[in-house]
Order: sequence, then C-alpha cells, then structure tokens
Amino acid sequence: MKLGIIGYPLSHTISPAMQTAALEAAGIEATYRAIETAPAFVRARLNEVRREFRGVNVTIPHKQAVIPFLDGLSPEASAIGAVNTVVVQDGQLIGHNTDAPGFVRGLEEAGIEYRGRKALLLGAGGAARAIAYGLKQAGAQVAISNRTPERARELAEAVGVGSVSGSLLEAALKTCDLLINTTSVGLKDPQTSPLPEGILPRHATVVDIVYNPLETKLLRDAQAAGLNTLGGFPMLIWQGALAFELWTGVKPDVRVMYAAAQKQLKVEG
Ligand code: NAP
Repeated sequence: MKLGIIGYPLSHTISPAMQTAALEAAGIEATYRAIETAPAFVRARLNEVRREFRGVNVTIPHKQAVIPFLDGLSPEASAIGAVNTVVVQDGQLIGHNTDAPGFVRGLEEAGIEYRGRKALLLGAGGAARAIAYGLKQAGAQVAISNRTPERARELAEAVGVGSVSGSLLEAALKTCDLLINTTSVGLKDPQTSPLPEGILPRHATVVDIVYNPLETKLLRDAQAAGLNTLGGFPMLIWQGALAFELWTGVKPDVRVMYAAAQKQLKVEG
C-alpha cells in the first residue's frame, strides 16, 4: 500500500514520521512518503495517486487547488471547501477533510467542553474555516475575529456563524468559554501573541493550534493567568489518525503517533 503527503514546500512535515510509526505499530505493510509537488504538477501527481496509491494527505498550498481534479468530496470537505485527505476508492479520488473533526477530537481527548459553549476564533484562514465548521457542527456557538475584518465576515457568512471586530471583540473575549488562535502568529516565534499585552479572556480555555513551538506565548500568558490551555499537537495527531482510518479501515495507536511526532518535532527544531 502506498500513502503520502503532497504539498509545496514539504521540508518540515511531521506526517511521514507519525504515519509510518502508526503503520508499523498496526502491522500494516505500507509506505508513507513526503511527495513535494509544485502547483503546476498537482493534476499529474493526482493521476499518479489514482494509479498507484491508496491515498494521500494534502497540505499547503494545495488544500483547495486539488478539488477540481477529484471525482468526489465528503460532505465535510464539500462544506469546508478544502481537502486534507484523498482516498482512492475503485479508481476514484475522493476528497475528505479530517482537520475539522480532528480539532474536535483533540478537545474531547483533553476533556474540554464545547457543546453549547461560546467559541471565539482568532483568524479567518484555511484552518479557521475547518475549525469554525467543525465546532458549529459539534454544537458550539462560534464567532470569528480577524486582523482583516472583511475576511472574518466572509468566512462567518459562509459557515453560518458570527463575527466580531472593534470594541465588540473585548466584550467577546470577556464572555467566551473557548478562545482559539488559528492565526499563524506565534509560529516559530515564542515571543509573539495574537492578543495585545495584558488582554486575555476572563475564564475561557485557551487553545493555540500553532504547534511549533509547543508552548506559544499565548499559552504561557494564559497559563500564568490561571486559564486552562491546549496546544496544537492534538489537532495535528487526530487529523492524521482519522486519515489513517480512512485509508486502512483500522484505528491507529494514537499514543504511537504522539511519540513519533514529538520526536520528529525535536529533530526539525
Ligand atoms: P492562512 O490560511 O494563511 O491564514 C493565516 C491567518 O493568520 C489569517 O487569518 C491572517 O489574517 C492571520 N495572520 C497572519 N499574520 C498575522 C498577524 N501578524 N497578525 C494577525 N493575524 C495574522 O493559514 P492557515 O492554514 O489557516 O494556518 C494558520 C496556522 O495554523 C499556522 O500557524 C499553521 O501552522 C497552523 N495549523 C495547525 C494545524 C494543526 O494541526 N495543529 C493545522 C492547520 C494549521 P489576515 O486574514 O488578516 O491575513
């Protein structure tokens, strides 16, 4: 069985280490490779996948670009408008999105309540789109705030949730139960937070989907203020675990995936 991940560039992906460890632990004979694919070659690469692979993960910048070349989409991928997992079924390429349920599974694993709770998302990019959809489907009350407010409004409208900006953001921060950073602020920058200095929610659990570094400034500030926190690793692991299940029909050992991903992150630095 051939599996892999397509993206561009792909030098820092953790997926091969974590998926290979899970395949070995499950005793499944398969390979999972990083297959760097420049935008001009996406179509040709997907034809190769159709002929030779059981499936692939799809990452930046191809999550939307692959859609015209697929034969079908899961309801989630169709609603989100992005694909992170392709499964080859009877010669057909079917696109799925495991980022959305993967995020929710990470909350559940950590015992964080979301049903009926107020979730405030910072950011309106690709990750925000999947998380807003996933949380709404799972029964949370979602609002989106973004540096570029028009993008927050557009996304909120597309997903059918709320958006906040300006002075309303401060009020939303006070009353939210979950604050989720989906911006890239803090990525490889342990000194920068998406919130201004001294501003934090009152009682919310603070989630940062950035996983490099594992402890972002936002998470450290929240912990210092006595707030419950969750980092970006659970989402990374669970989107991978759900993709593994789609390809193999087997539930992977998630602890093995955590251990392999952590080891790889240390290597990547
Ligand atoms: P994206 O589509 O490029 O969106 C980036 C978002 O960050 C936009 O909302 C952008 O706001 C905002 N932003 C960027 N720089 C900012 C700044 N200086 N101040 C305020 N806002 C800023 O990226 P993405 O694919 O959604 O990914 C976002 C982050 O999530 C990345 O760090 C990625 O590594 C992480 N991620 C983690 C997982 C996981 O499994 N844990 C999965 C996916 C993504 P504007 O609209 O104003 O530009």
